Amino acid sequence: MNKPAQRMPLVFFGHGSPMNAIDDNAVTRDWQAIGRQLPRPRAILCVSAHWLTRGTAVTAMPAPKTIHDFGAFPQALFDVRYPAPGDPALAERIHTLLAPLPVTLDQNNWGLDHGCWSVLVHAYAAADIPVVQLSMDVDLRPAQRFELGQRLAALREEGVLIIGTGNIVHNLPRMDWSSPDSPPYPWAKRFHDYICTAVREDRPQHVIEFASQGEDARLAAPTPDHFWPLLYILGARAPSEPVRLESDYLQHSSLSMVSMVFGG
Ligand code: ZN
Repeated sequence: MNKPAQRMPLVFFGHGSPMNAIDDNAVTRDWQAIGRQLPRPRAILCVSAHWLTRGTAVTAMPAPKTIHDFGAFPQALFDVRYPAPGDPALAERIHTLLAPLPVTLDQNNWGLDHGCWSVLVHAYAAADIPVVQLSMDVDLRPAQRFELGQRLAALREEGVLIIGTGNIVHNLPRMDWSSPDSPPYPWAKRFHDYICTAVREDRPQHVIEFASQGEDARLAAPTPDHFWPLLYILGARAPSEPVRLESDYLQHSSLSMVSMVFGG
């Protein structure tokens, strides 16, 4: 058992293709190892690249459904269920922590999307830990996402594992599908390195100001939805908290698979 006062780690997962949910590869084995290594959380709060809303919402239903939010993939992927319970009390707690920001307590709209469950089926395969998702308001500035993370940090002292799931470099149109090992584009490698260095050196302002990287940032995050979850995680990071990088490489030339484990 964890001591109640123990601060839970934080994780940013680079989730990549939905197929990772049913594949067995180096990345999914890294996710399994992360789940084994971390102290067992009382609940998981997930910020996924795939839940974008106007305003902020949190899943508040007792049994969130598994959402198959993707197009042409094999039936086996549509057959995946991740039946973790929800945690309505945690949703209420988040509502309180983020006040006076209005947070919608979602009872029947969302559930767990593939950004969340494609990772958790590996990291917490038993699906016996309650999971709550927080949506990302499309209208927030990067600094506001960081600030929301700061306000959620208190949950770490309450046995809650906060995870973000996205990709630091995520340019689907430019991906080279011929091989996962296709060499990264120079702009993809530069942006990946810029962000990883800023995280290692604990310079969150460099991450908040990712757009300062100009064309590299525009190519690496052409729609920044996959980048944004990292900002919530960095907001919840304690000062000088150590970080460990896993799966620290790019695939298909323009997809960064890096995951980051803070504390723990
Ligand atoms: Zn995704």
